[in-house]
Amino acid sequence: MTTELLFRDDAYLRSATARVLAVHERGIELDRTVFYPQGGGQMGDTGTLSRAGGEPIAIAATHKGDGPDTVLHVPAAGATLPAVGETLSLAIDWERRYALMRLHTALHVLSCVVVAPVTGGNIAPDKARLDFDIDMSLLDAAKIERETNALIARGVETETVWITDAELDARPELVKTMSVQPPRGAGRVRLLRIPGIDLQPCGGTHVRNIGEIGGIRVLKIRSEGRRNRRVEIALA
Ligand SMILES: [Zn+2]
Repeated sequence: MTTELLFRDDAYLRSATARVLAVHERGIELDRTVFYPQGGGQMGDTGTLSRAGGEPIAIAATHKGDGPDTVLHVPAAGATLPAVGETLSLAIDWERRYALMRLHTALHVLSCVVVAPVTGGNIAPDKARLDFDIDMSLLDAAKIERETNALIARGVETETVWITDAELDARPELVKTMSVQPPRGAGRVRLLRIPGIDLQPCGGTHVRNIGEIGGIRVLKIRSEGRRNRRVEIALA
């Protein structure tokens, strides 16, 4: 069942009310949500769904369902389950999500400092990484850190842009990530633009201004196979 994805228009929305559409062994489906489901390398949100009487239902993970725009809120073990039709108050674990947003946006900036095809990536609350198809000798941690932080210091506002599938097909250079093609079929693709720095398809949650990242440090750079050089970062 389709869920209205409130985070897509406003990544800063921490809470909302929603109605329960379905409850099954895979999770709780709602008519709208502020919970980002794991995808595009970004971990799903955790948080709480509160019942009318105030009873909390802890949400341990959020996943995508089978259809487009379906979200499965996975209750923690032992949590009470709501009934279909019930209205719940939603609240995400904001500190955790905001760290994910800052690190996610930092990877967009990093992908413009290390100019090479991206073969993979992951964003957790405490660290994030991108894998590049590049020669190891071209990766210098101190230089990457310095150049990424210099771009972050520009304090540029980010923008969300939508283009049609056809427009994206006409501009294949926008797709840096070889392993993850942007979702097709809905007729339009969401892009994140950081003016003067980056433009690429992305469905994740980002900060409004890259200055909010503050700065990053490179935790490690290592080889993960012939075509994978992994650059791992944390917030400074
Ligand atoms: Zn993104």
